[in-house]
Amino acid sequence: MNRLIVTKFGGSSLADSNQFKKVKAIIDADSNRKYVVPSAPGKRNSKDYKITDLLYLCHAHVQNGIPFNDVFKLISQRYKEIVNELNIDINIDTYLEKVRVDIENGASSDYAASRGEYLNGVVLAKYLGAEFIDAAKIIFFDESGNFDENKTYKSIRATVLKYDKAVIPGFYGCDADGNIKTFSRGGSDITGSIISSAIGADLYENWTDVSGFLMADPRIVENPKTIEKVTYKELRELSYMGATVLHEEAIFPVRDAGIPINIKNTNRPEDAGTLIVNDTEEATRFGTITGVAGKKDFTVIAIEKALLNSEIGFCRRLLSILEMYGISFENMPSGVDSVSLVIEDSQLKGKCEKVIDEIKRQCSPDSIEVHPNMALVATVGRGMAKSTGIASKIFSALSSERVNIRMIDQGSSEINVTVGVENADFEKAVKAIYNTFN
Ligand code: ASP
Repeated sequence: MNRLIVTKFGGSSLADSNQFKKVKAIIDADSNRKYVVPSAPGKRNSKDYKITDLLYLCHAHVQNGIPFNDVFKLISQRYKEIVNELNIDINIDTYLEKVRVDIENGASSDYAASRGEYLNGVVLAKYLGAEFIDAAKIIFFDESGNFDENKTYKSIRATVLKYDKAVIPGFYGCDADGNIKTFSRGGSDITGSIISSAIGADLYENWTDVSGFLMADPRIVENPKTIEKVTYKELRELSYMGATVLHEEAIFPVRDAGIPINIKNTNRPEDAGTLIVNDTEEATRFGTITGVAGKKDFTVIAIEKALLNSEIGFCRRLLSILEMYGISFENMPSGVDSVSLVIEDSQLKGKCEKVIDEIKRQCSPDSIEVHPNMALVATVGRGMAKSTGIASKIFSALSSERVNIRMIDQGSSEINVTVGVENADFEKAVKAIYNTFN
């Protein structure tokens, strides 16, 4: 069957020559895998360095007038090893020397960091016998530094589709002045998503070192099951699981184009991985959950005021105070005469007292209390919507573990129930909820 597949390989998938071999085998196994987006070489083991980090380090050395040749040597060695061990016909020294000289001459930190992907792209293209397309020629940012979708999509369509097989380095593009600009860290995922969307791919494969998303954090739940299928919306609700598997912003370009993402494991290509699909995809099993995720260290600001429900503009004033202090909030559960703000501690740091004073001044509440050390636990699943008994299952699981529920919030689409518990009860709560559904 003819399908158009964009494949993105993360840093650990391209960390050394052995990993390069696995990548080639994956590409060769399916002729539909036409466009490949590589990250820079990542860690080969837990004590190793990521090339991107070393490149940032080189740049920082130059900024501080410190010699950087020793750091740069670590970078050169890595690429040279890959090229030599795989017998790739490329003059890597010339490429490396240009990067070194550019950094020495004060190239920007974005430029320095982007060279990890650039060099890996050049090497991988040669190894796969594919065309190399520099991301700076097809991915653009506008004058304000925002991603320029129109210009980028036009350019990708005009360039990439000309080739049957091409490698496009991830992580960076070109700003309005013609300088290299990177996405945020982990941004190769975004590049892959943009390319998939622009060319209307059938599938975006994101190859990494895990076989997809797990239903719960394995540090809390022993051997959690892999999530086979998850919608984009569910994944957003599960974002507390941490963005380590997929960059959060990588979801949007493919979601808008209705292209599924398959998270796959380069070290276990036979595993199905997790398929991220359109929000319209119906649940097949009702009464089930997709996953449970959570996070510690939130503070709840609980505000009470008689007749709050009929006071016009109360919440606007309340939220404008958060805006004034540049604070985003996580949840805002409310009652007739009360409203609470659930805010991540890191957001409130150093500002809590000022925020409280301002709320007192602008909103004149009857009472205002601050409850620190709260954790949020989100139970998520499209199979929960329109099913009865889900909430009672969650609450009885928590009560049988003697976890006190401090707050309850259900999203409007019925695909998530979030509970607030004491930090100390967090692990117990995640385990109890996972176990009751598995
Ligand atoms: N190499 C970049 C980083 O380490 C981008 C990426 O891997 O996606 O953040």
